[in-house]
Order: sequence, then C-alpha cells, then structure tokens
Amino acid sequence: MDLRFTTEELAFRDEVRAFFRSALPASIRDKLLANKGLAKNDIVTWQRILNKKGWAVANWPVEWGGTGWTPVQQYMFQEELQLTPAPQPLGFGVTMVGPVMIAFGSEEQKKRFLPRIANLDDWWCQGFSEPGAGSDLASLRTSAKRDGDHYVVNGQKTWTTLAQHADWIFCLVRTDPQAKKQEGISFLLIDMKTPGITVRPIVTIDGGREVNEVFFDDVAVPAENLVGEENKGWDYAKYLLGRERTGIARVGFSKERVRRIKELAAAERVGDKPLLEDERFREKLAAVEVELKALEMTQLRVVAAERNRVGNKPDPASSILKIKGSEIQQATTELLLEIVGPYALPYQPEHDEEERWNEPPIGPEWAGPIAPTYFNTRKVSIYGGTNEIQKNIIAKAILGL
Ligand SMILES: Cc1cc2nc3c(=O)[nH]c(=O)nc-3n(C[C@H](O)[C@H](O)[C@H](O)COP(=O)(O)OP(=O)(O)OC[C@H]3O[C@@H](n4cnc5c(N)ncnc54)[C@H](O)[C@@H]3O)c2cc1C
Repeated sequence: MDLRFTTEELAFRDEVRAFFRSALPASIRDKLLANKGLAKNDIVTWQRILNKKGWAVANWPVEWGGTGWTPVQQYMFQEELQLTPAPQPLGFGVTMVGPVMIAFGSEEQKKRFLPRIANLDDWWCQGFSEPGAGSDLASLRTSAKRDGDHYVVNGQKTWTTLAQHADWIFCLVRTDPQAKKQEGISFLLIDMKTPGITVRPIVTIDGGREVNEVFFDDVAVPAENLVGEENKGWDYAKYLLGRERTGIARVGFSKERVRRIKELAAAERVGDKPLLEDERFREKLAAVEVELKALEMTQLRVVAAERNRVGNKPDPASSILKIKGSEIQQATTELLLEIVGPYALPYQPEHDEEERWNEPPIGPEWAGPIAPTYFNTRKVSIYGGTNEIQKNIIAKAILGL
C-alpha cells in the first residue's frame, strides 16, 4: 500500500490551502483559533464562499454540484479545512440528508432541496435519537400515520443539534408499528415551520445551547416528503450513519490544536521555566502526538484503500478512526486545562453562548473558552454512535467475534 502523495496531489493541496487562507474572513478564523463558538451567520457566510468556488458539496456527484475529486483529494480538502482552521460545512445537509436524497430520493426532492443545501439556504437538523432510542435507535417510537395525502406525526426527538436554527428536519418515524422494529421505520423530511412542532433547548454542561428536544404534536407532513419507500427508512439511516463516522477522526483539527497547545505552553511559566519545558507536561504532550501520528497513518491507510474500493459501503475501519479521533480530541482539551490552571475554574454556565464568549474572562483573554471547550468536548465520544458501540462494530465487522 503506497501512502505517498503524487506530485499532482501535492499541487492540489497547495491550491486548496491557498484558497482557504485567502478566502476565509479573518473574523471567523480568529474565533476558531481562540476556541470560540461560531454564530449561524459565520457558518452560512463560509458555506456560500465555498459554493461560489464550486466546493460546497465536494463529496456529491458532479451532476448535483460535486467536484468529482478522488478520495485523496477529498481527504486533503478536509484536512486543510481543519488545519486553516475553517468551519466544517454543516454536516446535516452536506454529508447526511443530501447524500441520502441523492441515493434514494425522488427527482423532485433532489431538484427542490439539493441546490438549497449547497448554498445553505435551508438549515437542516437530524431527528433520529429519542428518549429511550439512542444506541438502540431501532426502538424509536415517533409515529407517522398516513391520512390521505399526508402523514400525521406524533412523538419526540432529543439531542437535536442546532434545531433552534433549522428550517427542516429529517426524521426517522415509525410507519408500521406491527412490523419487526427495523422494518417499520420510514425517512421523512419535515418543515420546521409546520404547526405542532416545539423546540426546547437542553443546556449543556458547558452552559452552551447547541442541542434541543423537538416535540411533534399532530404535525401534518405531505406524503411527497417521504424519502424512498415507506418502511425502508432503516436502510437509508444505515447508509447515512456509515458516512457520518468517517468525518469524525478530525486529524487536521487535532494537529492545529496541538500547535496551539505548544504556543500557549511556551508562554506559560511554571516556576522559572516555560510549562513546555516541564518534563511531566512534555511526556503527556508527546503521548498525544504519538497517538495523533498513528491516527493519521491509519486514516491514510483507509484513504489509500478507498482509491481501489468499489461501491459505497462504509469501511468498518471508520469506527477505529472515530474512537481514536475522539479520544485524542478529549486528550488535547485536558492539556489545555492544565495550561490554563486555576483560570479554568471560573467558567460561567449561567450565560448563554453568545453572551458567555463576550464576557471578559477572569485571567488572560485566551483562558475564557478553555473550560467550556473541555466540557463541550466530552460529547465527541457519544455522538455519531458512542465509542462503545463503535467497539461492538469493530468486534463484529473486523475481528469477526
Ligand atoms: C452533543 C450531542 C449532539 C447530538 N446530536 C444529535 C443530533 O443532532 N441528532 C440525533 O438524532 N442525535 C444526536 N445525538 C444523540 C446521539 O446519537 C446519542 O446520544 C447516542 O447515539 C447515544 O445514545 P443515548 O444518548 O440514548 O445513550 P444510550 O444508548 O442510552 O447509551 C448509554 C451508555 O450505554 C452504552 N451502551 C448502550 N448500548 C450499548 C451496547 N450495546 N454495548 C455497549 N455499550 C452500550 C453507551 O455507549 C453509553 O455509554 C447527539 C448527542 C450528543 C451528546
């Protein structure tokens, strides 16, 4: 297996890097460098810059606005996004519901929705999880009963990320309560403005507001918003979840964070020397860097294998990337906490996100977002399928247990 890039691939990487550095507004990059939250408008602005360039939905077929890039080019695009750092295109549209529509949706659905996803004219959110149906997603109970040319939806979704901004939600709903649990599920597109929908925030441990509960009370959804066939939603969801995991390694993101850790630890003094020269700290940092290098090599192996892979089935190795990637992201936030020391304590969960980031932090300016970032990053080993569930997948699909 050859893990080296060709001359053309390296030239492509330079082109992407140069574009990101010149086209991304400095105000957005500065927020990301300082671990601050992005506003909705930042994400929309960046998506439209990418769309103008023709790179907004790089992973889609050319026919629907994609780039036709090879797996290596796709990988480089992601890596450069994270290294810049630049905002990730909103995954709910670009990597989840968009590809599902392309694979299983009607022509009308594709024409109506796909260009609006590319330009982020519609903000999508993901309505899969419910109370009692997370890892065991097939136990979901939100029902959709056919009534003439409509479905009537009742139930509750939870942990719905950024639903407070959403125009649309794609939902798994139960259309046949008598069938075996995986076989009675359908995939519905629901306009968030429909009467009967209520969005209620869940305030997270960092004081932020990025997840929600979404309630459906006799919500009428036109039958044309069903994706594919009734009761085949579980197959479409499996297709979608396989794609979700591959983006979660975030090697470029962690590399950028390690760079920032070194910068801060070089400036922070313990006694008469910088923290970066403290042996205990260096040991921990080196351990994270070794893991990160190993993850990068694993990711490159997956990408190299994709060069030759036929079909669209997700590689079970993506579960390894998810586990290691999330563990490393969490480890980097632990190092950040160590640098910030006592200034990590006074985080202020009583403020909402926008206000909190604008509060003058106690301690140096850069210290403010560190403790919230640490708390927020606990989520990465849970969403997209918990790390324990990924280990089950590895046990079955790779180890054959
Ligand atoms: C920040 C955040 C954002 C999210 N965003 C969304 C979203 O936008 N849309 C959406 O639909 N969902 C979203 N989720 C939900 C996420 O997918 C679920 O939280 C996740 O699948 C776990 O489900 P659960 O929370 O019900 O935990 P449970 O499934 O109840 O799991 C509890 C614990 O038991 C373990 N466990 C469960 N089953 C097994 C098993 N078979 N073997 C070993 N261990 C097991 C789990 O690993 C976990 O540690 C989000 C979650 C978080 C934290």
